[in-house]
Parts: sequence; structure tokens; C-alpha cells
Amino acid sequence: MERLRVNELFVSIQGESSFAGLACAFIRLAGCPLDCRWCDTAYARQDPGRDLGLDALLAWVEAQGVDLVEVTGGEPLAQAGTPALLAALCDRGRTVLLETSGAFDIGAVDTRVHVIMDVKCPSSGMQERLHRPNLALVTAKDEVKFVLADRADYEYARAVIAGHGLEGRCGLLLSTVAGRLAPAAVVEWMLADRLRARFQLQMHKCIWPDRDRGV
Ligand code: SF4
Repeated sequence: MERLRVNELFVSIQGESSFAGLACAFIRLAGCPLDCRWCDTAYARQDPGRDLGLDALLAWVEAQGVDLVEVTGGEPLAQAGTPALLAALCDRGRTVLLETSGAFDIGAVDTRVHVIMDVKCPSSGMQERLHRPNLALVTAKDEVKFVLADRADYEYARAVIAGHGLEGRCGLLLSTVAGRLAPAAVVEWMLADRLRARFQLQMHKCIWPDRDRGV
């Protein structure tokens, strides 16, 4: 049976996608081979995690009484068992979100899953880790996200969007690294460019500014 290394399980508000504001059961998997400068889940990246079987995870989700489930990390696709977990959650009728850096092939991910791909911008230091063929696989149910720290990041995001024909093909999300870039600046750039993307603030951090886990 598939086993996964899990950092934390919790129910909270989905905070950063077009599903923001909905109650969501989160499965945060442990470990990530990337080292993003702005990583806000270093505790999950460095954690060996506790070993849980697929059945235990499905039972936990069942007990929460929440329709929306997000598998996040760390980097979920760094674990071989993640595609089976995602498919099993879909089979049980859940709306399933996968938060991924895009560094691993999403080709094995069940097509019912909403992929939320956090494309790493230059300031993160991990720009080159993107598995670019992933950008050809995203569809209308998926969302591509860019977290920006400066104007160069914005221009990179705009170039990726245009270069891969993402406008109108999938959801597009832009947000800022907290304390690094004024949200108003990004919104003004987006409006000037008539960019067909959604600006978002991290809702869970607005609600619980002092909590960095379990939200
Ligand atoms: S991919 Fe996510 S978990 Fe991994 S280092 Fe980057 S921000 Fe942190």
C-alpha cells in the first residue's frame, strides 16, 4: 500500500486560489528539494514527516466533513505516492486541489484534480526548476500562480503567460511576497497591461497574521 510522509493535517480556510474563502481539509506533505528564497513553509520542507498509509489519510479526510481537499507541501509531487492519493480523493467525490511548484511532471496527476502551479519567479532563486512541459498540460480547471517580489518578477510572469498562451486557457493568479512589494504596484501594472489575471492576497494570512502553521 502507498505510504506518504506527512507534515500536518488540518482544516482551515482555503487562502490563495479561486477557491479562497472555502473551508478546506489540508494534507501537507513533508519534504521539498527546492530552496526558494521566500519559502513560507520551511518547517514542512525540512521535516522528514510521519509515515501514513493511504487508508489512514482517506479516513482522516472522511472524518472532517469537508468537500474541498488540498494536497500541499513541501512539494507533494516529490513523493511517489501522491498521484494515487489524489486519484483516491477524487474517487471519493472530493474537489481536490494540488499545490505544486511545477518542478515535477504533472502528467501522472488525475485529470479531475485542480492543479495550482506556483511558478517560481527569478527573485525566488528557483526559476530554473520549472518543468516547462507542465505549462502545456494546464487546462481551464487549473491555475498558474506567480508570487512577485519586484518588477522583474512581474515581467517574468507576463512573459511566461504570453509565451505559453496561458491567458484564457487556465486561471492566472498574481500575488506578492509579503513586505517585499506593495500590492497596489502590482495591481496598477496589471491594469495598465490589461492582464487577464486575478490579483490575490493570502486570505489566511490576513485572518491569522500571527500564525504560520495549521492555516
Ligand atoms: S517549492 Fe514550496 S516548499 Fe519548496 S522551497 Fe519553494 S516555497 Fe518552500
